[in-house]
Amino acid sequence: MLPSITELERKEDALLAPYAVKHSLSGGRIFPESSQEQRTCYQRDRDRIIHSKAFRRLGYKTQVFVNSEGDMFRTRLTHSMEVAQLSRSVTGYLDLNSDYAEALALAHDMGHSPFGHAGQEALNTLMKDYGGFEHNCQTLRIVSTLESRYLEWNGLNLTRLTLIGMLKHARIYEGDVQLREILEQRKGKSQPLEAAIVDTCDRLAYLHHDFEDGLDSGFLEPSEVLALPPFDLARIALEKQHGQSFTDARFALKARILVRFLLNDCITDLIATIKKNIATLKVETMSDVLSLSHETYPVANSPAMKERLAIMQKFLHAKLYRHPNVLRMSRRGERIIENLFSEYNSRPDMMPEHYLTRTQIDGTARVVSDYISGMTDRFAEKDSAYLSGIG
Ligand code: MG
Repeated sequence: MLPSITELERKEDALLAPYAVKHSLSGGRIFPESSQEQRTCYQRDRDRIIHSKAFRRLGYKTQVFVNSEGDMFRTRLTHSMEVAQLSRSVTGYLDLNSDYAEALALAHDMGHSPFGHAGQEALNTLMKDYGGFEHNCQTLRIVSTLESRYLEWNGLNLTRLTLIGMLKHARIYEGDVQLREILEQRKGKSQPLEAAIVDTCDRLAYLHHDFEDGLDSGFLEPSEVLALPPFDLARIALEKQHGQSFTDARFALKARILVRFLLNDCITDLIATIKKNIATLKVETMSDVLSLSHETYPVANSPAMKERLAIMQKFLHAKLYRHPNVLRMSRRGERIIENLFSEYNSRPDMMPEHYLTRTQIDGTARVVSDYISGMTDRFAEKDSAYLSGIG
């Protein structure tokens, strides 16, 4: 049975656009709970994510730069907060459900292993005979099974619609049976607008911020970044706006101003394009949204902005993600993951007891993958060195 809609939820639903994620559409929770007067169901989902262990660990996990390489780089935690901020801004302006978007944004990277994409690739290869490893599947597994905060159920018992919004590629691990009904509901349908906005804000956030971190690390060459057409055009606009004070600013400050200018421009473009697309498509309800095809889906930047983003992406691929020092960091991460997997897979009794007991249900490899992917960069580094007799 679905919980009744509270006064607060009813009030908020009345303020949202007709095609927004309404509280009346939450689908309730897999383990029924009563509603709370002072918080809406999506606010409660968001709060459960913030208080989870996996969320706290994001503070010591990084995407491009390994956490131990420097304190000033973005971590997955600060990145997730930035994605949440952008998503709240965009959804808020469009009268969509910002609390729902915030919950999805804060949770979107929770399933990542240590050492970014290199760590994920290594773990996926090691898990190829056991259903693989993929960060989005892992996020769903964390919120539905692995987080342990309640006596009555495993996981966070989020609303069905939040779980649907989290299901990015309509894929779950074979063993996650409790998510099958969510997968069924998601199949053949598009995402709510809020979920697609979070995905877009994720890409926009890291694309812009990787420039900032890339310059701070010294891996990106300032003159090459400034010569890139989007940065050159932004510089001309900012010189017009601020005159000599911009030209004379120290480079690190100039870089931040340029990145902020570009990101702002991009978010403004995103809002305007979504608004225009919704009007053109005559989207009226959330079921209209869910039945839209991939080709006509309204959440996108304008064609001109997409071109700019492609230039920036191509540059980062060539100059930052394939920088020799980044490749070395990645290789080191892979080695650590390989070492940890071989150690714990051959000796699962070295894992904490609450992991070991789960091997009977999920199999040793899946539990070892859960254990390793939950580690922070620094914990994985230390543990691998310790088990090798050198730490
Ligand atoms: Mg992300």
